[in-house]
Amino acid sequence: MRDSCGRTIDYLRLSVTDLCNYRCQYCMPPEGVEKRLHSDILSIEELAEIAAAAVRCGVKKIRLTGGEPLVRRGLVDLCRMLRAIPGLAELCLTTNGSLLPQLARPLRDAGVDRLNISLDTLRPDRFAAMTRRGTLQDVLDGIQAAEAAGFYDLKFDTVLIGGFNDDEIEDFVELSRNHPWEMRFIELMPMGPCAGWDRSCFLPGSTVLERVPELEPLEAQGVARRYKLPGAAGTVGLISPVSHDFCADCRRVRVTSDGKLKGCLHSREEVPLRGLHGEALVNAIRQGIRQKPERHHLAERPSDTPRNMNQIGG
Ligand code: SAM
Ligand code: SF4
Repeated sequence: MRDSCGRTIDYLRLSVTDLCNYRCQYCMPPEGVEKRLHSDILSIEELAEIAAAAVRCGVKKIRLTGGEPLVRRGLVDLCRMLRAIPGLAELCLTTNGSLLPQLARPLRDAGVDRLNISLDTLRPDRFAAMTRRGTLQDVLDGIQAAEAAGFYDLKFDTVLIGGFNDDEIEDFVELSRNHPWEMRFIELMPMGPCAGWDRSCFLPGSTVLERVPELEPLEAQGVARRYKLPGAAGTVGLISPVSHDFCADCRRVRVTSDGKLKGCLHSREEVPLRGLHGEALVNAIRQGIRQKPERHHLAERPSDTPRNMNQIGG
């Protein structure tokens, strides 16, 4: 379906929880989030019903996210239910990777097509400091488990943070040389805990091209500008929501784990979906798509959303 700006919307990011086993400094407060009542969060059946209604509205690709989707009980069942929706072309999942040793195989068997793994540093001490409670080795084990389960074309998402991991750009790019992976660098977006961070933390995606000038451009894919080291097995992606506003090409809407449809990550506007079924649910999703904001305003001011990223689904 098209929104009021004429953009085709065919991609849903569906958040299955706002809880997480990590506390990444830019995403969540150190104390985490108050655990909400079970009844405040969409049930597995409600998530599946919303997904099916979204597919009726033209969605072809669903990405499960959070919080950390792998901490959600019933996730594998949900994946199986989504895979059975006629018309859904692609089911993907974004994860911090720490629980993949246990869950990669069941997720693959349930029909998940692709995984994105978030990884901001390759150094154990930095990893522990940034996630406040994570261990790099868990994610490395998770990557192995994902490949063993058949997720070969992994995508890695690294949030570029000046003074934290910009000296690892070359190391991340290097991983694309011998692996069929896409190593993606994402600009840090000023929202939630990082909205007031020093300007030096916010680096443009072009920093990657300055550090690794041998990267050769490829065709863009979705919102990612893509590059390749000569002769490499994998690719490098730049996702630059701040410096390179890609709103005109945006094809996505989001549903939060408490059942609000968001046309834009950075907008305050939300359409409540809970309690709606059948045509009423489909109509509410259509309304949310129609009123998707034309663009965000990150170049001028921090995000307008009062939610932290874990409460939306990155
Ligand atoms: N827990 C999962 C994970 O970390 O992949 C899924 C949810 S997380 C909110 C999704 C993505 O959003 C992660 O790659 C994370 O690094 C990214 N993210 C969170 N806050 C961000 C921010 N302020 N700017 C840019 N990316 C952010
Ligand atoms: Fe959790 Fe992902 Fe946020 Fe880190 S970025 S705190 S892993 S939701």
